[in-house]
Amino acid sequence: MKASTRAIHTQPDDCGAGDVIPPIHLTTVYAYSAPGETRSGYEYIRYGNPTRAALEKCLGAIENAPEDCPALCFSSGQAATDCALRLLRPGDRLLMARDVYGGSTALADAILRPTGIEVEYADAADTDAFVRAIGDRASMVWIESPSNPLLRITDVAAITRAAHDAGALVAIDNTFATPILQTPLDLGVDIVMHSTTKYLGGHSDLLGGALICARPDLRDRLYAIQKLTGAVAAPFDCWLTLRGVRTLDARMAVHQRNALSVAEFLSSHPGAERVHYPGLPGHPHHARAARQMRGFGGMVAFDAAGGGEAAKRILQRTRLFTMAASLGGVESIISYPALMSHVGLSPQEREERGIGEGLLRLSVGIEDADDLREDLDQALKS
Ligand SMILES: *Cc1c(COP(=O)(O)O)cnc(C)c1O
Repeated sequence: MKASTRAIHTQPDDCGAGDVIPPIHLTTVYAYSAPGETRSGYEYIRYGNPTRAALEKCLGAIENAPEDCPALCFSSGQAATDCALRLLRPGDRLLMARDVYGGSTALADAILRPTGIEVEYADAADTDAFVRAIGDRASMVWIESPSNPLLRITDVAAITRAAHDAGALVAIDNTFATPILQTPLDLGVDIVMHSTTKYLGGHSDLLGGALICARPDLRDRLYAIQKLTGAVAAPFDCWLTLRGVRTLDARMAVHQRNALSVAEFLSSHPGAERVHYPGLPGHPHHARAARQMRGFGGMVAFDAAGGGEAAKRILQRTRLFTMAASLGGVESIISYPALMSHVGLSPQEREERGIGEGLLRLSVGIEDADDLREDLDQALKS
């Protein structure tokens, strides 16, 4: 079965009522049948809930996890990342890709480092340099591909092999790619993380996260942490996510068709100096992306000709692209990394990472492509 079919048909009916759509189970507690014996396996909402279980089964299925290894769903992407990073102990060494989601590096720096976990960063798009950085002593490697905001691509299989040789677990943030375009467990990765807030939910109306594991023993360890720390997804958010996932494949097809159209348009527009989209043949990692992904996704970045002043003018002028910080919804969004997602970095750090004052990031929605191009055209006129 293909992912589009699995996304719809792996959403079980748990009630025996014949629901076509999984219901929202709103109960905090479940009755026992005898002292110490649950009736259905469910006991208390933090430990498990049928709506959450339906989403966990569905996400495991579309990420190609083993059948006995459903996802774990969290109250946010950050909660999912936090849970995965809690596998580390003082003295362990975490090697993180440098251009991952800002919240991931902030979590590693602010929460992990003070506990005596070594945190280091390296450029994961440079495979040789990253493999050298892994060395022979790493406990966990954390990558993200395509990366944020420059849409650089990591060779996931090569880095995973090197990490495993060093005895490290490999975790990947698959939020930008989605399981429709990239299934990292097939490339050998141990843990896949999602902010379901983005493409999986797809309608900018919820907050959630997920972890999907390659093996049940690893899932058991993460579940034990989740159950104790308690940042689980609420039933209503799970239900919204299930609804979003049913159209994920269809939405991604339009997102990426529109993204390519916008990227090609910007490439020949004098108002855009440089366009970053892995689907363009001129992108430095185009071949790598084509090898490990089934499409190039809905995110596009570009450097406005005229730098920061021009970028700020464009942000004020777009009418269909809403100026906002998130991504992955049906509506188009334009964001400004220098003052939004990457405002925590010094100007010099941003410059080193290629995040210039003129850089704009687009989450290309599923509106009509002609309308989106026209909107950018009028916004980019000097
Ligand atoms: C949004 C995002 C996160 C964090 O997820 P939240 O749901 O906001 O907690 C992590 N990684 C990426 C790539 C994201 O876009």
